[in-house]
Amino acid sequence: MSEVEKHGFQTEVKQLLNLLANSLYSNKDVFLRELVSNASDAIDKLRFISLEHPEVLGDDPEFRIRISADKDAKTLTISDNGIGMTKDEAIAHLGTIAKSGTAEFFKNLTGDQVKDSQLIGQFGVGFYSAFVVADKVTVVSRSYKSEAQDAVCWVSDGSGEYEVSSTTKSSRGTDIILSLRDDESEFLEDWTLRSNISKYSDHISVPVQMLETVKPEKKEGEDSQEAEYTEWKQINDAKALWTKNPSEITEDEYKEFYKHISHDYEDPLTWTHNHVEGSQEYTSLMYVPKRAPFDLFNREQKHGLKLYVQRVFIMDDADQFMPGYLRFIKGVLDSNDLPLNVSREILQSNKVSSQLKKACTKKALQMIAKLAKDEDKSKYTTFWSQFGNVLKEGLVEDYENRDEIFDLIRFASTANDNSEQNVSLADYISRMPEKQKNIYYIVAESYNAAASSPYIENLKKKGVEVLLMWERVDEWVMNQVSEYKEKKFINVCSSDLDLGELEDKAEKEEQEAKTNENKDLLERIKNALGESVSEVKVSSRLVDTPSCVICNDNGMFTAQMRKLLEASGQKLPEEKYVLEINPDHEIIKKLSAEADEGRFKNWCELVLDQALLADQRGLKDPVAYIKLVNSLLLG
Ligand code: ADP
Repeated sequence: MSEVEKHGFQTEVKQLLNLLANSLYSNKDVFLRELVSNASDAIDKLRFISLEHPEVLGDDPEFRIRISADKDAKTLTISDNGIGMTKDEAIAHLGTIAKSGTAEFFKNLTGDQVKDSQLIGQFGVGFYSAFVVADKVTVVSRSYKSEAQDAVCWVSDGSGEYEVSSTTKSSRGTDIILSLRDDESEFLEDWTLRSNISKYSDHISVPVQMLETVKPEKKEGEDSQEAEYTEWKQINDAKALWTKNPSEITEDEYKEFYKHISHDYEDPLTWTHNHVEGSQEYTSLMYVPKRAPFDLFNREQKHGLKLYVQRVFIMDDADQFMPGYLRFIKGVLDSNDLPLNVSREILQSNKVSSQLKKACTKKALQMIAKLAKDEDKSKYTTFWSQFGNVLKEGLVEDYENRDEIFDLIRFASTANDNSEQNVSLADYISRMPEKQKNIYYIVAESYNAAASSPYIENLKKKGVEVLLMWERVDEWVMNQVSEYKEKKFINVCSSDLDLGELEDKAEKEEQEAKTNENKDLLERIKNALGESVSEVKVSSRLVDTPSCVICNDNGMFTAQMRKLLEASGQKLPEEKYVLEINPDHEIIKKLSAEADEGRFKNWCELVLDQALLADQRGLKDPVAYIKLVNSLLLG
């Protein structure tokens, strides 16, 4: 007998097993979908290899998945003649999770079962779902490269360890044998099994077979009857879903297919299915998930479509057909124009693939645009909350579709009194007064900081709507886009805030008059603050706040940007601020009336520090600030 090796599961696998047990109790039958999906993937992989090396199929050329139940032994077996696994592969694939970022994902679990169980959708269910119904899982597998005596037997009860040993298997492929828990014996019933399997396998292209008892008919004139016998009968129609006519596919079939390709256990939010003929012939079926995957912002994570050429599976995660900002889209692409022996390298520099990328991108954007118009508004709200920040990257990444992407972006705005991001640029423009030529926005550290920022006081007073942004990507994106439909984006924090015609002549004159009136004061403040400021001005943006600062680097680095760059270890030029004051504010009046130069300097520093705080720039010396405030309070 061969030696039995004991291995412990990777910690993350143990955590996943717990999570699955708590999440899937009302959806137990998904294990069948997952195991049938894995079997079909294993067959797809071998079929691909056999294109170039037909000899690998040997005497077992008909691909099929077989499912059988043994009521006496209480086992259910899912068997495929696909690629199989060697011992090393079984250890690598069935004892660890090979996705980067998995450990962090599990660290973020709250311990709240309801919340955590929703996260399983972000993760994908997979092989380990077998343990939800089985108290022992045995995998017997023989790789297409191995001889019969080099097969592997992998056994686990799902509690923390598994055992592997060598075994003999006469045919290629994998048998997954589930020893069902006592209360899961319904899965051994022929009818339950059949209805579940047909639900989960009708759309996959591999034949799925079950044993059927055949009763030979009694022939006339014959006394004895032939004995009953069993034979494998195909129970699915084994036609790849995307090859069917959309009018012949039900919603449920689309949803099932999504779950098959994504390993998500929730329904998708929406999908688009297109057969295209003409200079290019292809079919695409793309889905938007309901929930962002846990690794959405990990750029190295695999994404992309499942690629088929003439209905033959070629590869998973073909990212050449989806731009990075649509990396959350799942689906299949079946091309008639790519060669069957296409590789990732060929795809990179292939004319057909770049045309397909263009076409798929357009279709995906149209699908999202349709979702935005759906009567059920909650769908787009869900979409936006999950994928909005990724979609924004497209404004920079995809110049060609910039306007289409802009139409899909949603903002928070001063038109609402909450942080909901539900204002489109079309909404904003439709509300613009005639005199307004530009689109005004602010990027701050949080919704509250943006909504109550001193920089937007005057615009608010004038009834000018300001888009409020605070997401990490906003600053970067807004620095790279300059206009939408001939309307310029204006950052209200910029040094030369151009209010255009929104500022009438009288206001301009008043502003100039105020500057003249306060000329001495401005100079006195500048002298008191010395090198810390490059200029002191009368502000046109302040109403309720005494002061604000404008960074004098032509908007190169806003406070947010500076923090990001400094955190990444970059050395930036010393900040030079323009201090803007509001001469109508009581504090400025008080400061102006201060005769004692020492106390005057204190007031000036207070006003500058407050402005820096309001702009979230932070203070170089917070303790000195506290001392200063206290001395003035007691003063
Ligand atoms: P996923 O399918 O999402 O990669 P799973 O946990 O379902 O995750 O499976 C892990 C891995 O185990 C698969 O990627 C595959 O390499 C291997 N595997 C599972 N089932 C089979 C099978 N029937 N035949 C060959 N390999 C399999």
